[in-house]
Amino acid sequence: MEIKEVKAKNIMTKSNLPASDYAANPYIGCSHACKYCYASFMKRFTGHDGQVWGKFIDVKNWDEIKNKEKFQGKTLFLGSVTDAYQPIEEKYKKTRLLLEQLQGNGINLSISTKSDLILRDLELIKTFPNAKVSWSINTLDENFRRDMDCSVSVERKIEVMKKFHQAGVKTVCFISPIFPEITDCKAIINKVRNICDMIWLENLNLRGEYKPVIMKYIAQKYPQHLKLYNQIYNKNDMSYWITLDRQMKQFCENEGFNYLSASDDIDGEYGDKLSVFNFFYHEEIKKLS
Ligand code: SF4
Repeated sequence: MEIKEVKAKNIMTKSNLPASDYAANPYIGCSHACKYCYASFMKRFTGHDGQVWGKFIDVKNWDEIKNKEKFQGKTLFLGSVTDAYQPIEEKYKKTRLLLEQLQGNGINLSISTKSDLILRDLELIKTFPNAKVSWSINTLDENFRRDMDCSVSVERKIEVMKKFHQAGVKTVCFISPIFPEITDCKAIINKVRNICDMIWLENLNLRGEYKPVIMKYIAQKYPQHLKLYNQIYNKNDMSYWITLDRQMKQFCENEGFNYLSASDDIDGEYGDKLSVFNFFYHEEIKKLS
């Protein structure tokens, strides 16, 4: 692993992600090294072209954050192109430093992670208004999880989600990315339904340099699904997602859950029921169905 410290001009950057005004990434790169990592495009913009994603980390240093009052009531998404709680955080504590710098200024906090190191900061995170933490879980099968990333086990993610839920922090199970015929959304929801407030569903997108990696993996490990993956990812056939969307809607109706879409407010009030948000191809699906 190549690690170096770099000076960041500004740790808080304006975000065009849905439901967040600012994004912050205390590190460049991510040792979780997910095979499907959408953030690997960052290599091009950070002087890491040609390097292997997951094999380098830049640790950011930044100046004191000025005019903190301007963040009052805004939402920060922590970890949009890195995992703020990847193992290096244990040593450098940059994420903790950022939270300490922002504590008390009234910013809403949304953190996405695949780690349980975040438990270290539970008491600190609890002090932020509307704090929300999401864990990405797209399988209950440890073999598949290990094939895909170097993060902690599914059980460890679920354990820490439970602790945050019990502590009163809003928890989200982010079922992402959904691998056709491999990710069992219903089984995951049934596993976490009592320890999370929201479920987010996001389909697997394949583009850029990881597309051949994933296709090769499917050909080797799941050859029975290769035809389907070719249909979806080489012929743009949407029917798998349309069917899954309908199945999930029906499942949610049967279970008494809210079934919502990307156009609904993820911070909206939807009563006590579990809210399942479907983010995949939603606009296209609506047009086609
Ligand atoms: S945890 Fe997130 S940022 Fe890190 S490699 Fe995986 S998908 Fe990329």
